[in-house]
Amino acid sequence: MMEKREATELLVRLVNASSEPGRPMRDVLGVVRPILEDLCFDITVEEHSLCPTLLATHGDPVLLMSGHLDTVDLGEGWTHGQGEVVGDTVYGRGALDMKGPCVSMLLTAERLVGENIGCAITFTTDEEIGMLGADRLAQAHPELGQIPLAIICEPTNMRPAIAEKGVLQFRVQTWGKSAHASMPELGSNALTSLVHRLSDLLDAELFGTSSQDPVSVNLANISGGNLINVIPDSAKAELDIRFSAEYTADEMLGIVKKLLRADHDLLGIEVLHELPPFRSEISPDFLAKIENYLGEMAYSVPYGTEMVKFGPVNPNILILGPGIVELAHRPDEHIDINEVMRAVKAYVDMAKMVTSQ
Ligand SMILES: [Zn+2]
Repeated sequence: MMEKREATELLVRLVNASSEPGRPMRDVLGVVRPILEDLCFDITVEEHSLCPTLLATHGDPVLLMSGHLDTVDLGEGWTHGQGEVVGDTVYGRGALDMKGPCVSMLLTAERLVGENIGCAITFTTDEEIGMLGADRLAQAHPELGQIPLAIICEPTNMRPAIAEKGVLQFRVQTWGKSAHASMPELGSNALTSLVHRLSDLLDAELFGTSSQDPVSVNLANISGGNLINVIPDSAKAELDIRFSAEYTADEMLGIVKKLLRADHDLLGIEVLHELPPFRSEISPDFLAKIENYLGEMAYSVPYGTEMVKFGPVNPNILILGPGIVELAHRPDEHIDINEVMRAVKAYVDMAKMVTSQ
């Protein structure tokens, strides 16, 4: 059985297999596939040039575990090497998000096979960009909905998350009429119009309310105009809004359009990226058992995960994994291998909780 030392070696191999955006994901899938083959899993690979995915099943699964093997770009500012091990800590892009949790999944698979408990594993490869692989995989395999418990193994420091926020990223553009700054009556200032509308949006009561899952808004950039003595004839800004399952994605877009007074033909909104919010339908009794076992109360995460793709197929779903998510997407990303091992024990015990129900 793989123990801490083997888990560390496997994680270092995964970190060293390239998986940045745009890279072929063959290498990283090539690390996990033989391990599952050796454990006699049935393996289906959904081929795709950008986002191949792998589904592995063994016996009659009581637990589905899902992880993504792609990472964000390396970026700058690292003081540790890629795959460097210091004590029990493994450093490198993806060590935490989420190749470390993927190692937990593989060790769990090994232990469950040893105990003759069926399980299924999915590995996806473009979570950080479009989640297209997870989307295709979930759609192609409705049988995943029959598995009593599904876990997205993203790092939550082993706190169970049952909901995640939706994302609405959009560009808003305004048009006016150019004129000399000394003759404003001949022009119409597109930038002023944009600023007024944006401040109406940013001041809306909706944002930063005292509700449990407040809607957040980020004005990311704004541009328009050029010469100081010319009235700008166009302006634009980009915003990112996060919202809970209190709203649908369409409702949120409707609210935004209303706040920006988008009925105007001199204003356009272009949605750049959109993900609906999701809330798990896991039974309260079973969730209480899990909370009790983990010693942690369920919560909601403010970001999107592949729960939004797998959840509609299998709503008995949680986000639960080792590691501290705040360290993700940063230089010196790392995970403690003891946390990886702790997750293995929890996943195995949770699979047994399902079988004993
Ligand atoms: Zn992730």
